[in-house]
Amino acid sequence: MFRLDGTDIITPKNAFGALPVQRRTVDEAVKILRRALQGGMTYFDTARSYTDSEEKIGIAFEGVDRKSYYLATKTPSTTREGILSDLETSLKNLKTDYIDVYQLHNAQQCYAPGDGTGVYETMQELKAQGKIRYISITCHKIDVAFKAVESGLYATLQFPLSYLSGEKEIELVKKCKERGVGFIAMKGLAGGLINNARAAYGYLDQFDNVLPIWGVQHMHELEEWLSFMDNPPTLDEELVSLIIKDRESMQGAFCRSCGYCMPCPKGIIINQCARMVLMLGRAPTKKWLSDEWQKEMAKINDCINCGRCKSRCPYGLDVPNLLKQNLEGYNRILQEETNKK
Ligand code: SF4
Ligand code: SF4
Repeated sequence: MFRLDGTDIITPKNAFGALPVQRRTVDEAVKILRRALQGGMTYFDTARSYTDSEEKIGIAFEGVDRKSYYLATKTPSTTREGILSDLETSLKNLKTDYIDVYQLHNAQQCYAPGDGTGVYETMQELKAQGKIRYISITCHKIDVAFKAVESGLYATLQFPLSYLSGEKEIELVKKCKERGVGFIAMKGLAGGLINNARAAYGYLDQFDNVLPIWGVQHMHELEEWLSFMDNPPTLDEELVSLIIKDRESMQGAFCRSCGYCMPCPKGIIINQCARMVLMLGRAPTKKWLSDEWQKEMAKINDCINCGRCKSRCPYGLDVPNLLKQNLEGYNRILQEETNKK
C-alpha cells in the first residue's frame, strides 16, 4: 500500500483513470469499474469534462461503502460560479456528498489567494464546507506545475509522466517529494505511444512518491493492470532495453495527444494526425491507412496557419509543421503499402 503525499489517502500504487469509460456503454463501464474495485483498485480519477464518466462511476458504486474508495474529479472552470456549479454537478453524478481530491483541471496558472480571480478562495470555501477534502491541481505546463508545488497551496499535482518524459519532469517528481505534495501521474502510456504495460508500470513504480492512474477502456486492459497488484513488473534487462529503444525512436518533439490545441477551425484531428507516423510504427497500420484516415490526414492541406494550435500546445510544439511532416511521412508509407500489393 502507498500513501499519497499531501493527503491521508492510502491506496495501491495502481489507480483507475476514468476518461476512457466515456467511450463505453453504461453497462460495460459499470462492469469495468466494479471489477476494478473488486480487484483492489481504490483510487478513481475522473473529470467534469469527461462527459458521462462521473455518472458511470456514480452508478457503478451506488450503495458501496464510500470509505472503501477515493474519488478524484476536476473542474475546468476559472470562476467562482463555475466551480461551485461544477462541484454540485460532480457530487450529484458521483452520488456522493464529498470529493476526496478536487482538482483545478489543466490550470493555465498557479491560482493563489488574493490573485483577484477568486478561484483559490472558492476551493477553500468548499473545503471548509466539507464538500472537498483536498485542494489539488492538474496541468500540462511544467512552469505552472513547479509554481503550484512551490506555492505550498496544493495537496497534490497531476502531471504527465512516462518513460518518455525528460529530466525536467523527474526534477518535478523530486520537488514534489521534498515539498510533501502528492504526485499523480497521468499519461503513463504517453497517449498510446507506449504499448508495453509492464515497462510503463515498472518505470513509474521506481518512484516511491508517484501514484500512476491508468486510463482503462477495456476489461483486458484492466486485468493486466490488476495482475500487477500481486506481481509488479520490475525493470529487468529486457524491459530496460525496450525502454531505451523506445526513447531513441521517440525522442524530442512528439505529440502527446492531449488535445489541448483543439478544435482546429479546419477540422483537423490534430491529436492523432500530429503523431500519425509514430502510431504507424507502433500499432497495426491497417486502421490508420483506411479511407477514413486518409481523408482526415488530407485535411492537413487545408491548414490556414492560423497559429491557434501552436499557441495552445503546452509542450511548445510547432504544430502546423509537425502536421506537415506527418502528412509527408504518411503519404510515403501509404505509397509503400500500395506498391507492396
Ligand atoms: S494552424 Fe492549421 S492546424 Fe493549427 S489550428 Fe490553425 S488551421 Fe488548424
Ligand atoms: S499538438 Fe500539443 S496540444 Fe495538440 S495534442 Fe499534441 S501535444 Fe497536445
